[in-house]
Amino acid sequence: MFEWRDGFTGRRYGFTKEQQDAARRLVAGLLEAKLKKEVGDDLRALADAAAAFWARDYYRLVFPLAFGREVVDGGVRAVFLDDPGDRVDQTAVFRRAPLDGAARPPLLPAGGRAPAEYLLADVVLVRAALANIYCRQRGVDPGLLHVLRLACFTGPLAAELAASGFDLPEEVRRLVDFLEGDGEPPAELDAEDLRRLWEAGAVAAEEAMDIAPASFAVTVVVGAVQRVKQYVFETPGLNEIRGGSEILSDVTERLAVDVATELGAEVVLRAAGSHLEFLVPDAETGAAWEARLRREFVAATGGVLVAAAAETLPVRDLLGDYYRAMGRVYQRLEAARNQTRPLYPETLPFEERCAICGQRAAEGWYQPPEGDAEPICRVCLIKREWGRDARRDKTRELEEQLRGGGRALWGLGADAGLPQSLDDLIVGHPRRRLVAVVYGDGNNFGAVVQQLKNIAVARQWTCRVEAVTWSATALALAEAVRVSVPAPHAAAKEAQRKPSLPFQVLALGGEDIGLFAWGPVGLRFAERFVALTDREFTPAPGHDGARICFSLGVLVADAKAAVARTVAFSEGELLKWAKRAARNAGYRDGGTIAFLVVPTADQIPGDLDDFQQTMYYREGATFPVCLTLRPVTAAELGFLLDRAARLREAGFVGALGRMAAAFVRGEPRVAVLYYLYQKARERKGRDDGGFTALLEDTRERPPTLADLDFAGRVLGTRRPFGGEPVAGGRETYFAPLVDLAELVKVLE
Ligand SMILES: [Zn+2]
Repeated sequence: MFEWRDGFTGRRYGFTKEQQDAARRLVAGLLEAKLKKEVGDDLRALADAAAAFWARDYYRLVFPLAFGREVVDGGVRAVFLDDPGDRVDQTAVFRRAPLDGAARPPLLPAGGRAPAEYLLADVVLVRAALANIYCRQRGVDPGLLHVLRLACFTGPLAAELAASGFDLPEEVRRLVDFLEGDGEPPAELDAEDLRRLWEAGAVAAEEAMDIAPASFAVTVVVGAVQRVKQYVFETPGLNEIRGGSEILSDVTERLAVDVATELGAEVVLRAAGSHLEFLVPDAETGAAWEARLRREFVAATGGVLVAAAAETLPVRDLLGDYYRAMGRVYQRLEAARNQTRPLYPETLPFEERCAICGQRAAEGWYQPPEGDAEPICRVCLIKREWGRDARRDKTRELEEQLRGGGRALWGLGADAGLPQSLDDLIVGHPRRRLVAVVYGDGNNFGAVVQQLKNIAVARQWTCRVEAVTWSATALALAEAVRVSVPAPHAAAKEAQRKPSLPFQVLALGGEDIGLFAWGPVGLRFAERFVALTDREFTPAPGHDGARICFSLGVLVADAKAAVARTVAFSEGELLKWAKRAARNAGYRDGGTIAFLVVPTADQIPGDLDDFQQTMYYREGATFPVCLTLRPVTAAELGFLLDRAARLREAGFVGALGRMAAAFVRGEPRVAVLYYLYQKARERKGRDDGGFTALLEDTRERPPTLADLDFAGRVLGTRRPFGGEPVAGGRETYFAPLVDLAELVKVLE
């Protein structure tokens, strides 16, 4: 029996010997295919291809663990995978590609003396990275370096590769034998040191501390863009915003490729969301990269703030006390941050200002499609050009992520274009032109990271978060668009224009997610995204670590509202509200979503706490009533959205509005009486409604709302606005009619 333990949820995945052999053959076959794409026997190219396979392809094949993708009626949708539990399904089929239907991820535990949560890939990459840096420090011949790297990457699957007839070069095979404990390495390599590194890369943190050579140190380089949101959202136009976001992703990716090309993909620890972390051989190389990161980011953007730092650490610390060791690197980065100064300090009174940002001095002119030439600054010019061309738009990357389908993936036809303005996000002619600004990230990830004791698990965590966030985003968007835009072509034809995608992804990297979408798409996206990530990180019964989950803030506002304001409110207020509620609930029910619908920008609250009390809370003479369930879980939002859609279809928008108004304006007791009167009228058939019957339909209610009664009911341990428990206070009733009234506005 083979087993891998998911260190972040406590779930266990068991395999029989036959299944583990089948998974190994499959992974070896994919690695072989990757190697065969390299022409000739350039060992460096082979080693680089193998590094990319383990560092990127393998993790994307394995994560997410809990959901895949399937195509139904030409549309993509998520499929939940069986919970493996302790059961072993003899007929398990393994994924051959990322998110491959309902097939199981081909998990390869590290085995040997490694802790149960290490994957073979984590160990392979750490060993290769250490061997790589070791050789470079000692000036080992480059040819031999790449032979050693290739041995690290192919050694663990050497038997499977040989069985399928793939011949490794003789010198690689000799090194594989040596690493496996047989024979001697070439004279240039120190057998003792190498063997210690090899062993230290595959054992628990505490053991690695003793095994790794004490004298061996590596340099960690970190680079990160500061004030990313200020840079991306300083201008109101969607083109410039998209441009700013794409430039940052592009330069981050380009630099990661440079590091991989010059040093090997195994040394890149993280490259996402304009943030880079990688290993280099020494402080001098580190300093050179520091300067290069700063230079490249500034050159690409025309002037973004970027901080970079390099710190040399004993390899024992990276293997045995990772979190603390990285803390030293981040202290350096913090110090570097405090020293960076904006490139554009102030505009002098006599200088002409840029017509787009209105802040920086203009350096040239641009010609708008209509109208006269206008002054523009360099930063805005670069963003504008990028945004219009969208050379590497995130939408395209999502389409690649879900393999195939291309533009047709969204169900909008292959000619659907990127939105050019926020107005373009809106489909058809809804009553209100509402755009959702969605911002989110992981809850409690700081605590997870603090528990990363070893560089191997740290790498697994980073790769997993990246793969899960992308997959969940792509699938959630595909489903949200499909449900919200049933007949896109008719709508587009009516509007006499080419359909454009009803969303624009802006931030996506690491655990961060940010997007603009048409109102209904944004809300349904939030529900699906949290449902998928909750599924991925469902803890095993009795797991003692905090539950990993995501929170999202969703502001639905008029398409004309100023972007800087809506983004700041969604991220600064709503997301914080959602996160606070998740924390107060001890992450018991998973991720949370805080949404708010404001028909016009001037209704965005200046003070959210005050707004909550005024709008959603009634003290009442006998009992207090809270008129919202927010922040909600994915299941709760799904339930409310479904109920709102049914109320709208049944023509109860007016009845809902009157009922909500009774609760908002009146004394709770009176509002409850009004509700009961309405219900009694329906019962006696004096009202053709069925409004309260629809509200009280208990089908598909999530367990957390099992006791829900729209006239008001205490709901278990739920506190108003997800606040902290109050000892000895009066119990609050919940009558979430305002939630439904707001959601109906978005769906109309
Ligand atoms: Zn400008």
